[in-house]
This record gives sequence, C-alpha cells and structure tokens, in this order.
Amino acid sequence: MCSGRVDLEFVLRAFSNGMDGVLIGACRLNECNYITHGNYHALTMALLCKKIMEHIGLNPERLRIEFMSSAEGNRFAEVMSEFGNNVKEIGPLGNGKGEGVEQKELKSRLAEVRKLIPYIKLVKNEKLASRLVKPEEYDQLFTKEEIDKLFSEVISYYIDPEKCQACMTCAKRCPVEAIISAKNQIHVIEQEKCIKCGTCFEVCPPKFRAVTKIPGGPVPPPIPEEKRTIVRKKKE
Ligand code: SF4
Ligand code: SF4
Repeated sequence: MCSGRVDLEFVLRAFSNGMDGVLIGACRLNECNYITHGNYHALTMALLCKKIMEHIGLNPERLRIEFMSSAEGNRFAEVMSEFGNNVKEIGPLGNGKGEGVEQKELKSRLAEVRKLIPYIKLVKNEKLASRLVKPEEYDQLFTKEEIDKLFSEVISYYIDPEKCQACMTCAKRCPVEAIISAKNQIHVIEQEKCIKCGTCFEVCPPKFRAVTKIPGGPVPPPIPEEKRTIVRKKKE
C-alpha cells in the first residue's frame, strides 16, 4: 500500500534470492496519502541500503528509488526501461561493475547483514526518520566511514552466569527464541540466533543486571551445560 512499508529486509532478501536489481516506485514526495509520509522513510531506507550494499561489495546502483504518481504511465515505462538497461550494463550480481565477490561469500555477507537488520534500524533510528528535502542531502545522510563503524562495533549481548537468577523474563521477551531457558538454569544466549535487538538487556530486572553489552569484541563462551543449575538456599 505504501513505499514506507518496503523494509530493508525486503530489498536485501531480493538480492539474497539472486535478483540483479531492485526498483522501489514511491509516490511523489509531499504527495503521500498518509500523514506518515512513508515515501520519506522509503528514501532514507534506500540510502542506508545503498551504503550497506557498498560495504558488502555490491554496486549500489543495483538499487533505485523513484518517485512518481500512478497517472504517470509514460514515466514509469521510461524508468523501468532505463533501470533495466542499467542493471544489464552492471552485469550479474556479485560479478558486475565495481564488484568481485564470489557467490558463496556474497550469500554469507547478505545473510550476516540481514540478521543485523533490527540492530541497524535501532542504531540508525533517528537518521531513518529524517525528512530530506534537497537531493544534495541524499549522499550525506549516511557516510561510508559511519557504516564501516556500524559493522565493526556491533554490540553483542551476554548473560553473566554469576548474576543470572533464571527468572526467565529475558527468554519470554526475546523475539527470536535465542535464549536457552529452563527453570533454575542459568540462561544462555545463542549468539548465532541473536539479532542484537537489546530486549534482554532492557528487561533483565535491575536487581540482577545479568545481561551485559559487549561492543565489537568477542563474547565469552557459554557456561557448560552441567554447570548451569542454580542451587537455591532453602528458607529456614
Ligand atoms: S539481544 Fe537478547 S532479546 Fe534480542 S535477540 Fe539477542 S538474545 Fe534475544
Ligand atoms: S532476565 Fe536476567 S536474571 Fe532473568 S533469566 Fe534473563 S538474564 Fe537471568
């Protein structure tokens, strides 16, 4: 219904599925049918996505956003034809102009980035809500250095086995079931499943503060299964 609904995930999924190009057709800016002006969101998302594409070795010209009204059939035809030709000129995904990434490596980079989408959206929330008025501002919204830093400083979450009291709050709230949870068992985050949303950090009761943030660096190994049981003192 609205270009504002086109998520970063949709675009990156298309590339993961082997599409050579993605075109987002949005209503003209300031002519959105909704008070949310979703097309501005689509624009900032596309600008961010282009920088992410550069970061993983894809030509950002494979993604394009165009603003047009549904009455502009001719313009739509022209844009489609021009974009189709541009994508053909760039060449096959991963092996096109300015690229050179093996298919297996490309798939793995795309999978890594897609896993981090909730984190990326959380960290870049303010900029994603920008309403860019002048096209000159487009290229400045996200810089290469900023995106490189974003990925080099990804925050990981870790449950301190010394502090966890197995209250199970974090496991109930984790959106992707990334926390190994059982009654009276120290909880453990499965790093492979974790999408870095930070919910466990937010909901762990202040009296325990068992979840810690680890920026960039390696996460300690999980406590062995046989050492996870919490022995509680019986009340007298
Ligand atoms: S940060 Fe915590 S709540 Fe979010 S996905 Fe990872 S383990 Fe789950
Ligand atoms: S919310 Fe905190 S104390 Fe409770 S199980 Fe999770 S990490 Fe442990």
